[in-house]
Amino acid sequence: MVTISKRLETIARHCPQGARVADIGSDHALLASYLLVEGIASYVIAGELNEGPYQAAVRQINALPQVKHRASVRKGNGLAVLSPGEVDVILIAGMGGQLIVSILEQGAEKLKGVSRLILQPNVGEELVRRWLYENGWQLVAESILQEDGIIYEILVAIPGDPDLPYAGQDRSREELMRLGPFLWAEKHPLLRTKWLREKEKWNRVLASLARSDKPEAAKRMDQVKQELEWIDGVIACLRTAKP
Ligand code: SAM
Repeated sequence: MVTISKRLETIARHCPQGARVADIGSDHALLASYLLVEGIASYVIAGELNEGPYQAAVRQINALPQVKHRASVRKGNGLAVLSPGEVDVILIAGMGGQLIVSILEQGAEKLKGVSRLILQPNVGEELVRRWLYENGWQLVAESILQEDGIIYEILVAIPGDPDLPYAGQDRSREELMRLGPFLWAEKHPLLRTKWLREKEKWNRVLASLARSDKPEAAKRMDQVKQELEWIDGVIACLRTAKP
């Protein structure tokens, strides 16, 4: 048995049965191990850039004699560890949205034949949704969860019609890129928690700008007030929503 966090377990639930999976930036390879031991993945590639986590991944997989023949631990940058057509699913979790996007961007060739991306940005979810939209990937599911006080979002996409999840909603595509089209449609209770936290953050920024005597502070304050107004509108909708 491999014990993993609620975050990693939620990611694993998005993984189709029998898939060949690459976990890029696998660190300890716990998720890869779980996918094998639980009989979810038929084969896993654990990719890691850095020596320490790479060695930890090698040790972790070697400690699982029953399944290790269905795993390959590889050291390298992003999707460079993959050969075209080797996997059905690519997982990238626990990194910033910008880094996830740059890994996908640099490894575009390796995405051919991949049928599902499961991405869990720690920050910058909007950047990831935008990249998916602009590169022909259709969001098909989103999860949001809280663990140890931190809110995480998981985005799942397949090659398809990127417009579909943004159609027929009461918010523009641009807004939904920030909110998450599925999370918004569902009016998930944690979405309200997330945006209340964003509001607190921007209120702190506003308070610090108010103390500033820099000439650009006044203009920035106007922008922050606009952002706060938008967030208030979002929170109001989520308050009245019946999930
Ligand atoms: N995916 C695991 C999770 O969600 O728990 C580990 C997340 S850990 C914070 C990020 C890992 O990604 C680190 O082990 C880091 O060395 C690795 N990493 C960072 N950039 C990478 C890249 N370009 N290619 C592969 N691995 C990378």
